[in-house]
Amino acid sequence: MLLRGNLHAHTTFSDGVRTPTGLVAEYERLGYDFLAITDHFDHDNLVHPDYEETLAALESELLIFRGIELSYQRLDQHVGRVHGDAETLYILNHPARYKLSVAETLDRMQAIRRAGWPLEAMEVTDTGMYRPLYDTEEIPLVKIATDDAHRPPHFGRAWIEVEASRDRDAIIRAIRAGDFRVGFAKP
Ligand SMILES: [Zn+2]
Repeated sequence: MLLRGNLHAHTTFSDGVRTPTGLVAEYERLGYDFLAITDHFDHDNLVHPDYEETLAALESELLIFRGIELSYQRLDQHVGRVHGDAETLYILNHPARYKLSVAETLDRMQAIRRAGWPLEAMEVTDTGMYRPLYDTEEIPLVKIATDDAHRPPHFGRAWIEVEASRDRDAIIRAIRAGDFRVGFAKP
């Protein structure tokens, strides 16, 4: 079955304007099938103590993935970490935000992998806007599209449609295998 989802979104636990419940309602209205909530760590590399518990307790028609947006401090590069039940997916977030060249993107990918975060995917979007420079086979990561949702204009701009059963681990495995396509709202 083809499942539509967003793997990068923020709530009031960091710099998003919607509570987790409010954000989930937005994506239910958009008819999505899954949503990863990926709030930032704060400057002390902590999230609020209630974060995990709140996400785990969310009730929704959506399949919810717990996630986090990490910062690889040495390069100030954001990395998304999305948790399935057994699987975990690491995503190189928005290289366009840092105006990286393809060569610089490859250098960052390698440095971050060496530091122990096994990147497998990369965003070819910046807050939902397509950045085709990064959509190249020179970068050996699967290319995903996300909203990086913080506030209403971002919700539903960019997504992936994954061919998988309705199961968090199956979705992550399908993304790794490239069994998905990216989609964008009409501007
Ligand atoms: Zn983000």
